[in-house]
Amino acid sequence: MFAIGYRCMDCGSGVKGTEPVFKCRHCGGSLEVIYDYERMHADFIPMQFRYMPPTHMKYHFALPLKKPHNAVTMGEGGTPLINIGDNTYVKYEGVNPTGAFKDRGSSVEISMAVELGKKQVVCASTGNMGASIAAYAARAGIEAVIFTPDFAEPVKLKQMKYYGAKIVKGGKTYSEALRKSVEYAQKTGAYITGDYPYRLEGQKTVAYEIVDQMNLAVPDNIVIPVGNGTLFYATYKAFNEMKCLGIVDRMPRLIAVQASGCAPIVNAFRKNMEKAEPIRKPETIASAINCDDPVDGAGVLKAIRKSKGDAVAVSDGQSIEAKLALAKKGVYAEISSATAYAGYLKLKPRGTTVIVITGVGFKDKY
Ligand SMILES: [Zn+2]
Repeated sequence: MFAIGYRCMDCGSGVKGTEPVFKCRHCGGSLEVIYDYERMHADFIPMQFRYMPPTHMKYHFALPLKKPHNAVTMGEGGTPLINIGDNTYVKYEGVNPTGAFKDRGSSVEISMAVELGKKQVVCASTGNMGASIAAYAARAGIEAVIFTPDFAEPVKLKQMKYYGAKIVKGGKTYSEALRKSVEYAQKTGAYITGDYPYRLEGQKTVAYEIVDQMNLAVPDNIVIPVGNGTLFYATYKAFNEMKCLGIVDRMPRLIAVQASGCAPIVNAFRKNMEKAEPIRKPETIASAINCDDPVDGAGVLKAIRKSKGDAVAVSDGQSIEAKLALAKKGVYAEISSATAYAGYLKLKPRGTTVIVITGVGFKDKY
């Protein structure tokens, strides 16, 4: 295990050591885990990378787990990269154990909770993350408490209940639910999970896998639906790491897609701002990306600019059309994931493109 500390995505200040830290002590910004890349590079075995089939835990060298052999895992990752024509691929995360990309992050977060001897975890979620945390907590024998905004999809609440999670109404918006989950953690000592450094680390494996599945080639564009932006920033971080490790030699253009009724990052990108301004009255059927005040907003904006990427908003109508168009190619996507395809159709980026479809189509009523 090569983790050595943390760095703030917003103000750049560092924290040494591997004790869990959730937010920057100076500015409250999101943190990322920093590794000893020289040691990682020296110990890294490219042959292993080439010949092992892709799966989340294959990339444990880039995860902060102290005991990867004891990880809480259900074989997440290893999801198909599907060619849909026109030099375009879909990374279909809907086939993860709970039907969404969140399982990669949950596997790392719950493994860390187990390493730390925690008995209860809490998180705020529009649905997918809560269901995923609930599943991995159940597997680890840990109690899960999930704060959900009013717009959470009933089918996701049902999934959480089956896994045995306690669901708490968190209010109208995601940021309200998030605030309540933090208060709950402070009051009870429950281990807080969600869009924090360990989840970000877990989500990186999507990018490692894409490169692996393309025989170590780098696509020209990666299109990602953005709510809190953790997957987006994780993808950027993973490519920087793969450059350090000599696996790739360049960064793809990273393209963020949001719903026009809740597009704080697209707005900030267009206005050339470094931080996203919260949306007062978010409104979209794409509930999984309905994040009014994105946790990793500053990181996403940096990642878009550094990768010479782009950000685009699509209407709910365009997302429904995109869901239908993807289904006609055999890919059944959650509406919030179909937004990424809608964004791709709107921008038509040149070159090889990978679109990350974050969740399966059964996850909503549309
Ligand atoms: Zn900071």
